[in-house]
Amino acid sequence: MTTPSPAGYATGRILRPSAKSLPEHSRSHNRALVLQTLYRSGGISRADLARATGLTRVTISDLVAQLITEDLIVELGQREDARPGKPATLLDINRTGFQILGLDLSDHAVLRGGVLDLDGAILEHRETRLDNATGQAAVDKVTALARELIATATAPILGIGVGSPGVVDLAGTVISAPNLGFRDLPLQQQLTGLPVLVANDANAAVLAEHSFGGALSDTMLVRIGLGVGAGLLLNATPLFGSRFAAGEIGHVVVGTDGGAPCACGKDGCLETWLAIPRLEAGLAEATDAAERESILRKAGERLGIALAPVVGALDLAEVVLSGPADLLDGPLMEAAIDTLRNRTMAEFHGDLTVRMTALGEDIVMRGAAAMVLSGQLGVS
Ligand SMILES: [Zn+2]
Repeated sequence: MTTPSPAGYATGRILRPSAKSLPEHSRSHNRALVLQTLYRSGGISRADLARATGLTRVTISDLVAQLITEDLIVELGQREDARPGKPATLLDINRTGFQILGLDLSDHAVLRGGVLDLDGAILEHRETRLDNATGQAAVDKVTALARELIATATAPILGIGVGSPGVVDLAGTVISAPNLGFRDLPLQQQLTGLPVLVANDANAAVLAEHSFGGALSDTMLVRIGLGVGAGLLLNATPLFGSRFAAGEIGHVVVGTDGGAPCACGKDGCLETWLAIPRLEAGLAEATDAAERESILRKAGERLGIALAPVVGALDLAEVVLSGPADLLDGPLMEAAIDTLRNRTMAEFHGDLTVRMTALGEDIVMRGAAAMVLSGQLGVS
């Protein structure tokens, strides 16, 4: 099978192409367009594909033949209908023909991995305790987990997606991930043998939300755990920023009234209000339900204060929260919504959606799979 550049998802191009392209870059674009159309609405004929994509019947016929040769498209059989003439043969992307490895390095205690199908369902799930491993020892554990998972796959692996904490550049080098002791670590190059894509965990998570969680095209996904980070999609295009640190809002100071000291040296960073260990420590000292609710509301308020200018500047349609639902989904999220409403323009941002992700703790693993789908096949 010919594989496009594995960095394909990160080239700043729009996800889910929906129109035919100019002749000069047509073939790879049209190939992705056909795969994308079948990925989202499989079980259609060549004539349906031509109508949906705006490509000619001849071009579709040619591309489909090629993609069948590569085992990426399958014929499902003939349409059972009463239309006159020869019944049409229905096509689908080969959903069972390939599998994807997704790895989530973002937890402080365990490395998570899964074998996923092309629809993002987890077929096999494994975990390895990190046991405080850092640097090369942590990389070795990642490699061992990947090998273990590859051995369980029941179809050829399309690629390996990795969601890593910290700042990750477009070549999959982890510029800095203090918890894992990674500094300028070319992780994408070190995991070899299959196409590999490495990205920041929140950037992976927002792709999962787009592919499998129904996210809108202008979405910010905020991950709240040991720290706080975010992934951004603007016009269905992942945003990385000038130093690959777009969405790193955890160490932005919220307010002008000080706050608790942060590990970074400043006082009152968003993480000092919102990181789960800080929230849990505060809640452990609360004496009754009212105090508990007040702690959660204060955290939500700070989140709203931090998000309001982002929502305003980028005209986001949606903010999605990912993290422990027992802490986030309740007074905290309600306070964040109230604060956002009070601090943005109702005319433009009044219908902003703020919600929890439905993808739970598998969101990074599934996002890592979405990176591979996007990078290898151009679909999402
Ligand atoms: Zn800080």
